[in-house]
Amino acid sequence: MWEAQIRHALAEVGERIDRALVRAGRAEGVQVIGITKGHPTEVVQAALQVGLRALGENRVQELEQKVAEVGRDAAEWHMVGHLQRNKARSATATSDWIHSLDSLRLGRTLDREASRAGQPIRALLQVNTSGEASKGGFEPETAVQALAELSELGSLEIHGLMTMAPWTDDEAVLRTTFRRTRELLERCEQELPGALRGRELSMGMSNDFEIAVEEGATMVRLGTVLFGEREQR
Ligand SMILES: *Cc1c(COP(=O)(O)O)cnc(C)c1O
Repeated sequence: MWEAQIRHALAEVGERIDRALVRAGRAEGVQVIGITKGHPTEVVQAALQVGLRALGENRVQELEQKVAEVGRDAAEWHMVGHLQRNKARSATATSDWIHSLDSLRLGRTLDREASRAGQPIRALLQVNTSGEASKGGFEPETAVQALAELSELGSLEIHGLMTMAPWTDDEAVLRTTFRRTRELLERCEQELPGALRGRELSMGMSNDFEIAVEEGATMVRLGTVLFGEREQR
């Protein structure tokens, strides 16, 4: 039952992404990350069955639980939510990607844990390009300097930027947030050549992913549009 629903949703999302790519004149693909938070393990297993291998959670505890249930190597695991430093060890052990690197101290801790584990960790700098005080992440003015410091660390690989757009259906506000993130990535590349290991832009959720793709997203983090509404938590 879950498989059919997810297969259908994934096909529809794929078509919407393709149309957004065409509108933007972009040729490259976009990686869909299925955000399974708030859904049971059966949903994770069904997602894997239909070929969605990149899966994400926003809490370490739920990530640990799902990794334990389906296997560390069964999926490519993405940690997308705010990460406390005392969870850094677990996060580096269970994640292939950390999208929510939002402070220098967290970056140094992740580097130390990854070094201890003997396995570099891939991360994205979370940036606050929405202008909202409540949003986490580096302010755009400090992001380049943060990248300069963090890119010196031997076990932390920064592959790009991540942003969270404001909760709004105002297309202009969403577009501005995403465009600023892309421009910031370009600035990082110009001012610090070689500091970034990739040019990933993790932006776009169920309500705004088409706009994000038009503005250059390479990873979209999708929960509701793939798996339906979550239980209230
Ligand atoms: C929950 C969550 C998502 C997915 O949200 P949907 O609106 O259900 O697609 C994406 N990114 C982060 C950081 C999240 O916490």
